[in-house]
Amino acid sequence: ASEGSSDPVQSFELGPENELRFEVDGKNKVIMSVRAGMAEVFGTELVKEKAYTFLAGSKIAVFTWQGATIELRGKTEVSYVAKETPMAMYLNCHAGLEQMRKKAEENTELHGPVLMVVGPTDVGKSTLCRLLLNYAVRMGRRPIFVDLDVGQGHVSIPGTIGALLVERPAAVEEGFSQQAPIVYHFGHKSPGSNIKLFNKLVSALAECIKERTQANRKANVSGVIINTCGWVKQSGYKSLTHIAQTFEVDVILVLDQERLYNELVRDMPPFVRVAFIPKNGGVVERSQNVRSEARDARVREYFYGVRSPLYPHSFDVRFSDVKIYKIGAPSLPDSCMPLGMKADDNKTKLVQVQPGNNILNHILAVSFANSLEEEVITSNVAGFICVTKVDSERQMLTVLSPQPRPLPQTLLLLSEIQYMDSQ
Ligand code: ADP
Repeated sequence: ASEGSSDPVQSFELGPENELRFEVDGKNKVIMSVRAGMAEVFGTELVKEKAYTFLAGSKIAVFTWQGATIELRGKTEVSYVAKETPMAMYLNCHAGLEQMRKKAEENTELHGPVLMVVGPTDVGKSTLCRLLLNYAVRMGRRPIFVDLDVGQGHVSIPGTIGALLVERPAAVEEGFSQQAPIVYHFGHKSPGSNIKLFNKLVSALAECIKERTQANRKANVSGVIINTCGWVKQSGYKSLTHIAQTFEVDVILVLDQERLYNELVRDMPPFVRVAFIPKNGGVVERSQNVRSEARDARVREYFYGVRSPLYPHSFDVRFSDVKIYKIGAPSLPDSCMPLGMKADDNKTKLVQVQPGNNILNHILAVSFANSLEEEVITSNVAGFICVTKVDSERQMLTVLSPQPRPLPQTLLLLSEIQYMDSQ
């Protein structure tokens, strides 16, 4: 018998605009295939009879516009068909964006829509971004995806913000291809840990995207889709308005929270369209624990790959061969600062870190910058390594790295994100 032949098989008949939702838990995996009709996962069309494998932790919706028969092989945590979804409304949003792109196509003075998705945590912001990006590329567009959700990190790993040009629909099992992304190191799981730095990075990224779209007409017409994190109160709200301003957004989609919608309508200039849209009932709320596991999985994926395995390297680095910095010095009251400096300026200062147990299991970003004379904080990072051992006696670090030794650069930025390498 072939592997897994004893796994339970479930078959679902989906009517038009129905959605099959399922979750995979524990150590299980589920193989899904379309037996009849047409269906999509978060905007990516499925190939009939192809076997798609979903690993533990997956929360998936298979949607069909016309109707389809879907088969699941393997143990699911939950699986059910939902008849009510906001997909028609999401498609409307896409149609609206497409109209703006057409106008931009006809008039070189205009540019494609810059859209921002906001809302509290676990309302499907990232999923909506993915859907709109997928629908755009399926129409032949080349939109830019900007991810400012430092808690999960969909472009790179948690603790970063980044952007990529989307040239093909997301792979059903793995998401968007990560070729040549722009990635900035932030170093924390929440923007609130250093809001000054966060805003500075957002501005730098906005500037960089502006330059790129000006040089690429197709991307300029296609527009930008910005994912944000679920921190929407007080400073979090302020940072959302800062994002809207620096990226010069045209459209804001507010998922699920009417209060946030009303605040943005009140505070945004009149040329910014703000729309309220309901969340999909299938979006699953995640506990702190699940969120932290997802972060971990994301880092593991960076080093070890998802399906096609990657083989990271492990090697020793002398303390004296690297310079490790963290961003942000402890703040002093303004009265203690040198003349003309504000306490806040400390938040974007580089502070050298002596290697020791304080960096064990931490992620270090490998900066493209060669020296401190360059704009270290706002320069793209080359990649990430993880400190797996610190030997103070021998003055040596052992690191896990996607690339073989030596390190491409020796200026490293310490992240609060930790990863325990157990493979
Ligand atoms: P947010 O970005 O707002 O935190 P996500 O888009 O990451 O939320 O969605 C949270 C989780 O819900 C993800 O694991 C996603 O795969 C899952 N999800 C999204 N839409 C659906 C749906 N329609 N049915 C089932 N699960 C979904």
